[in-house]
Amino acid sequence: MEENNNLNRKLTTASGRPYAEHENTQSVGSRGPLLLQDFILHEKMAHFNRERIPERVVHAKGTGAYGTFKVTHDITAYTKAKIFSAIGNTCKVFLRFSTVGGEKGSADTERDPRGFAVKFYTEDGNWDIVGNNTPVFFVKDPKKFSDFIHTQKRDPRTNLKSANMMWDFWSLNPESLHQVMILMSDRGTPFSYRHMDGFGSHTYSFIDKDNQRVWVKFHFKTQQGIKNFTAPEADQMRTTDMDHAQRDLVDAIDSGDFPKWTLKIQVMTEAEAKTFRWNPFDLTKVWPHAEFPLIEVGELELNELPRNYFAHVEQAAFAPSNLIDGVGFSPDRMLQGRILSYADAQRHRLGVNFQQIPVNTCPFMVNNFHRDGQMRVDGNGEDHPNYYPNSYGDIAPDMSYKEPAQELDSNVADWYNRNEGPGDNDHYTQAGDLYRKALSPQDRINLVNNIVGAMSGINGPKRDKIVNLQLCHFFRADIQLGMAVAKGLNVDVEQAMATPH
Ligand code: NDP
Repeated sequence: MEENNNLNRKLTTASGRPYAEHENTQSVGSRGPLLLQDFILHEKMAHFNRERIPERVVHAKGTGAYGTFKVTHDITAYTKAKIFSAIGNTCKVFLRFSTVGGEKGSADTERDPRGFAVKFYTEDGNWDIVGNNTPVFFVKDPKKFSDFIHTQKRDPRTNLKSANMMWDFWSLNPESLHQVMILMSDRGTPFSYRHMDGFGSHTYSFIDKDNQRVWVKFHFKTQQGIKNFTAPEADQMRTTDMDHAQRDLVDAIDSGDFPKWTLKIQVMTEAEAKTFRWNPFDLTKVWPHAEFPLIEVGELELNELPRNYFAHVEQAAFAPSNLIDGVGFSPDRMLQGRILSYADAQRHRLGVNFQQIPVNTCPFMVNNFHRDGQMRVDGNGEDHPNYYPNSYGDIAPDMSYKEPAQELDSNVADWYNRNEGPGDNDHYTQAGDLYRKALSPQDRINLVNNIVGAMSGINGPKRDKIVNLQLCHFFRADIQLGMAVAKGLNVDVEQAMATPH
């Protein structure tokens, strides 16, 4: 919906009636009580009372922009998705960046993963890659998600952030180690949203024109270069400009310096997945680049700030269930959980018809039998049949969109502990690889300082238990790392190992 650009716009009520008095309420005499009949006062106050919608329970603080995605390389060997059918294809995108744990007014420089959620408006429907600036996550089963997020929020008694809650949970969930290491490195405090990579993080599937499936991961590599704050710089920026990352994006786009990311993919065949030494659907693991090289796909550019923040950014609703033909799910447990929870969160936050809000609307075809509900604003299917099957036949399923069947490795339903299967209990190799392979000597020093700073906040009677257990995880990732953290925390390793907890 376009805004009205007419500068001589008359002031009106919400129902469209022009009126004259916007500042003074009708009263009995100049010093007397107000009249109930001045409904404009009610309309203003009642609307104001309802201005806030529920804050996102995670990713509350964010900023976003529209842009363009352009296909630069041929990947038709992997997917039949129409957007990738030819080099040069383009589509409009909307990208929302965010921090995760903080409230809507929190600082942009907090140590936190950053959300990186992209909506591609394609002719086969809206496609959302709802990712982060990290390739992995803290937990690999969605049942743990709410517990984990509680530890990132406020202590139920003090209403303060709590190092105890965070490190207690992480130390008892070693699968979190890989993501904790990334979070504690300087990539946990990016300089701005423009200077970080984005990851789809989950494993998805691509389906080709012959209905063959491969597994795929998405990487958005920043063309601005990686740039991070050190912990002292981030602390300093928090006091100087709480909204630094948002301001950076607004200033860049306003000045025509449009940020860009290169979209790359990693591809794994179904046969390779069966023999990969880790579970390829485990969100706490990456696929090493040397074995699964990055394949270039296209370029994403952000070039248009929305004219109204609330209308576009706050009401933007992403859901990993929004996929397009040629892109499918995988058995990644976290993805499976998010298929439910994201659309559900949007229905709670914005209402059942949230996909009719312009930023969320597919600009191409939408035909179905959903009807009614709060804020149904699109004509509601007009006089067409609202049931299926019907004899009037104006909407029909197209079987060519059917995905290939998927073979499973078991027919036994149970609660499988994903820390016990082959490779599943290895929480340490990739965390150690990060330390040994990816970090420069200075990055390692900063990582250790950041860990020591964060763990120094642990206190109370469980302090030693939490610290020592977490130290064990760092030792198992890399002995040098464990020693450096122990030294920073003044822990006598031999004595700690001898002490029962
Ligand atoms: P490579 O040696 O080929 O590359 C290292 C990767 O680590 C690069 O993608 C680099 O990103 C990234 N990186 C550097 N510093 C950090 C940091 N502080 N936090 C997160 N990522 C960082 O990697 P391998 O594929 O052999 O994997 C080695 C380790 O690298 C993994 O265990 C994992 O921890 C990490 N990694 C791997 C990724 C993957 O998809 N394979 C993705 C990201 C990290 P950049 O290119 O932007 O500098």
